[in-house]
Amino acid sequence: MNQKVLIHEIHEYDPQKIQVIVEEAIIELDLIGQISDKNILMKPNCLFAVEPDLGIITNPKFIEGVIRAFSKYSNKIFITDSPGWGSFESVIKKAGIDLILEKYKVSIIPEKYYIDGNINGKILKSTRIIQGIEGMDFIVNLPKMKTHAMTEITGAVKNLFGLVHGKTKAKLHFRYNNPKNFYRMLLDIYEYIRPGLNIMDGIISLEGRGPGTSGKVKKTSKVLISKDAVLLDLYFAYMVSAEKSIQVMLDEYPEFQWFDEKDDIPVIQGFELPDKTLGLLTHIPVPEKISEWMREIGMPYPEVDQDKCKTCNRCVDNCPSEPCSINKDKNGKLIISNKTCIRCYCCEEICPHEAIKMKRNIFQKLFNWILGT
Ligand code: SF4
Ligand code: SF4
Repeated sequence: MNQKVLIHEIHEYDPQKIQVIVEEAIIELDLIGQISDKNILMKPNCLFAVEPDLGIITNPKFIEGVIRAFSKYSNKIFITDSPGWGSFESVIKKAGIDLILEKYKVSIIPEKYYIDGNINGKILKSTRIIQGIEGMDFIVNLPKMKTHAMTEITGAVKNLFGLVHGKTKAKLHFRYNNPKNFYRMLLDIYEYIRPGLNIMDGIISLEGRGPGTSGKVKKTSKVLISKDAVLLDLYFAYMVSAEKSIQVMLDEYPEFQWFDEKDDIPVIQGFELPDKTLGLLTHIPVPEKISEWMREIGMPYPEVDQDKCKTCNRCVDNCPSEPCSINKDKNGKLIISNKTCIRCYCCEEICPHEAIKMKRNIFQKLFNWILGT
């Protein structure tokens, strides 16, 4: 295999240690010519404003280490992301990333302007992309190692979805509303963006029902580095026994159908995935209508925990279904419609108070019982 994934064992967030392994990777992967004196964009995971210790966003010290490594080759370093909630500025301020950017003179590309990106992919032809990306020579993708209630895991390919402008992300969620189509759309965006390097922050990860506050912090002590985001995600999936969930990647990239080095890939013991759901069966090629039906009866549906809900309305603003699946009853309580809900779990992802819980019907309970999950 031409491409490779470098795997490092690092136990704490030490910018100096991160800098060393990234500098080594730059040399080993022969990147100096591509980055010297070039416009370099950092793309961390900045889902929403939250303490970095919760494992939801790329850790500030991790970002610092990477910036230090690239600063040796260029002083034209930029950063951006379009968070799921709030502004990029609010996320970096809360996490203390703003001070790091100031220290290393990293410029922020504002996420509020966009261009129409000519994606020309297999299913996504064009979409709004943050303006300014087109002027970058080299993109450094900095995903977080996390689970995802809809797609099971979220890694390097999914992290690039954050370069799609604001509410357009919700529209794409609605249009590509089963896990298989959603992944295919993500791959189209990946092919368009094509980061030069992907460096996954897996030192402190998120397991269980990620990628937001419903997930659980897990110390995994890993950093994965690769020029290829798909290959990196396949390694990540193998490490946490989630290969089935990214079957679409294996289908689309036959060159990665096998792992030569599979025996050398460390397995992360006891990494808890979200519950298996019949939604994974959407990877089986069946007519769209059957796939939708499987999603409706096979995937748990969200319900608002009225005791925890603070009616902040984040979930309402983020729900991509049309019509919106989250509405107020006559007492002002939020109620979710099982009929229109597309099971994207954006509400669960974005809720700051863990106030979205899952309801399972008899089929899902039976399915989980059969799988022993
Ligand atoms: S469920 Fe969560 S996000 Fe939605 S209104 Fe309540 S607290 Fe806010
Ligand atoms: S209610 Fe939640 S899971 Fe359902 S469509 Fe809206 S955001 Fe997605």
